[in-house]
Amino acid sequence: MTTEKTKQYTELSRSQAGWLKGHFREITDLPKPGKKWTARDVDFGREMVLKLRQKELIERVYDGTRSSDGRSNKFYRTTKEAYEALERYKRKAERSDSFFPCGHSAILNERGVDGITCGECGKVYDKSEVSA
Ligand SMILES: [Zn+2]
Repeated sequence: MTTEKTKQYTELSRSQAGWLKGHFREITDLPKPGKKWTARDVDFGREMVLKLRQKELIERVYDGTRSSDGRSNKFYRTTKEAYEALERYKRKAERSDSFFPCGHSAILNERGVDGITCGECGKVYDKSEVSA
């Protein structure tokens, strides 16, 4: 038996990644890959669905069903690459929005501690480590 070739990991193209970076905040409810969805299932609206389609970040799925007006139902599926990139951008944005490197923002005022204590996880940071 020949060794099975591992499927090459397909990265997003430069233009796909660039577009996603600029719009990920508008499409945070993009469904997970492997799930079939319609424009009605998401909050970001039809126009955004079209753009995602143009950028090939989602795939059109044909299942043969028709809506009440006789037109074929438009189903979509999020690509794995797009979803993973979206999650990455979301995590990165959360981190940069937070005060502490641990990702939290609640400050605990403690006396006698040299540094600043995170009110959520209790980690103590030096003043130079936290964002001003
Ligand atoms: Zn923390």
